[in-house]
Amino acid sequence: MKNLNNLAYFYCPKCGKEEVDIDMRTMGEHTVNFRGGYGIPILHFTCPNCGNLLAGGFPVNAHYDREYQKELITEYNEGGMYFNSKLLDFLKKEANK
Ligand SMILES: [Zn+2]
Repeated sequence: MKNLNNLAYFYCPKCGKEEVDIDMRTMGEHTVNFRGGYGIPILHFTCPNCGNLLAGGFPVNAHYDREYQKELITEYNEGGMYFNSKLLDFLKKEANK
């Protein structure tokens, strides 16, 4: 049986990989991006397809529609308006631990 608490929507703007209701435990560690306190945090996972460290997701119970979730994840990626190079540096360091 699926445990709803572990399910997430996943999207990678770099390669376009998208997963609905993915079990977070199969995705390795994630980093919570609180987005400066604006709304629901993004969970950043490394994309299993292309290795993008800023791929991300939201828990299934997040009350945003899918298009908005996709848009937010995209804006926090390279080239997006909320892209944060410090966060990317942090994720790179974590990935190399
Ligand atoms: Zn990817």
